[in-house]
Amino acid sequence: MTPKNEEDALPTPAPRTTPETERFWEATADGKLLLKKCADCGEYHHYPRSHCPFCFSDETEWTEASGDGTVYTYTVTHQNAAPYDEATPYVLAYVELDDGPRVMTNVVGVEPEDVSVGQEVTVVFDETDDGEYALPRFAPM
Ligand SMILES: [Zn+2]
Repeated sequence: MTPKNEEDALPTPAPRTTPETERFWEATADGKLLLKKCADCGEYHHYPRSHCPFCFSDETEWTEASGDGTVYTYTVTHQNAAPYDEATPYVLAYVELDDGPRVMTNVVGVEPEDVSVGQEVTVVFDETDDGEYALPRFAPM
């Protein structure tokens, strides 16, 4: 992440993991974005689930995403409660991954006015406060 300056950086709270999401979060520490892929119907999904949301198969497997995608839609947040208030304005977005799923995330490393729908972005990882995981966010290519 390349914040405008250190005070403008988005907070990096540690996630609450579950048995279904633990592997996803562990991979973020290694700079990898994992997706679940269904071995039966071939669809990718995110957030991680034990059963495919398309065909309900339990034959899902972890795959590494390319990390590339495009901004599907976004909004610029100008007000929020602490500790996010110090990071405003910041971009909350849905990024459509090249692999298919759309992920809710932040677009970082760019001024909000320079973000646009359809913009090509790639994943970046911001280490969480506890140092155990990283938050996947996206920056222009
Ligand atoms: Zn499926």
